[in-house]
Amino acid sequence: MTDLKSMNPEEMAAFFQTLGEPSFRAKQCFRWVQGGIPSIEEMSNLPKALRETLRRNCIYDVPEIARKQVSALDGTAKYLWRLADGNCIESVWMQYQHGNTVCISSQVGCRMGCALCASTLGGKVRDLTAGEMVDQVRYTALDAGAEVSNIVLMGIGEPLDNFEHVLRFLELINRPEGMHIGMRHISLSTCGLTEQIDKLAQYKLQLTLSVSLHAPDDETRSRLMPVNRGVGVARLMESCRNYFAVTGRRISYEYAMIDEVNDHDWQADLLARLLKGTPGHVNLIPLNEVEESPLVPSRRVAQFQKRLEGHGVTVTVRRKLGRDIDASCGQLRRREIEQSERQ
Ligand code: SAH
Repeated sequence: MTDLKSMNPEEMAAFFQTLGEPSFRAKQCFRWVQGGIPSIEEMSNLPKALRETLRRNCIYDVPEIARKQVSALDGTAKYLWRLADGNCIESVWMQYQHGNTVCISSQVGCRMGCALCASTLGGKVRDLTAGEMVDQVRYTALDAGAEVSNIVLMGIGEPLDNFEHVLRFLELINRPEGMHIGMRHISLSTCGLTEQIDKLAQYKLQLTLSVSLHAPDDETRSRLMPVNRGVGVARLMESCRNYFAVTGRRISYEYAMIDEVNDHDWQADLLARLLKGTPGHVNLIPLNEVEESPLVPSRRVAQFQKRLEGHGVTVTVRRKLGRDIDASCGQLRRREIEQSERQ
């Protein structure tokens, strides 16, 4: 079966050629896909026989909204999508002054096992296809009835653990024939898979790479993030320095502030030392409490920020959107799984 939604225009043209169809038919089909048409049958300018051939030979799935929560405070909307195979994933719609942002998932679940994160509790079920990632952007925008200007790959899953599909997603979303979202308007967040960061650097994409650091010392980071146990912070920073050297793009370091775990002054000092000589900036995230986790939000965010700034580090504190809904990723999906297990 051919996945119609994960093909670029050239691949679609080649596929249509194998069906004995001219390239303008491929273009028509590509346009229908982009428009979010609910089914192949409704691609009304394709001959009926061709639609039948496509229906029999292609995958064309449309995600359903399983749940939607809208914040009464700031219009942030959280979507729980049910995919064709019954699995659920989340996307978030956020309205900022600089435009509308969609946060998307890259996998069903996650296998990285970070202690602070709800997405990893049930492990990884499967990777998402490029088409399923584009669909989150497309159908969220269609439902919100507005244009998307930014995309963040910060939902459920580890994008660099689904490297090929994510790369294909980036191409599709960036293509002028597609949603045409500029690479500079896309952020990709990783827990720090060093080999994949090195590989990504080679593509020299102009996206923003966010690295979830969460601790500057190996003891704390390995406790919070099993991925650190094999490589360590020094090796991760080497990949980050290389990434900047090759792409010229500054890295954004994510740092979720956790009470008595990673919020000490000595950790701010060590973090500043780590970043010396690598242009980048630190984004402090107030921890979202996860029911299943004993970790508690830090009370020292402002002090930690000041301490870092004192060392000349550029720091921002993430504004919390959607306080009144399940804003931290993975929690809506967890509830859905728990509910269906109870039934
Ligand atoms: N796997 C990728 C992207 C998904 S998580 C990554 O690790 O970066 C997106 C960001 O949210 C990461 O920085 C992650 O560590 C952070 N995060 C996860 N759970 C959180 C929580 N409970 N509170 C605050 N940030 C959290």
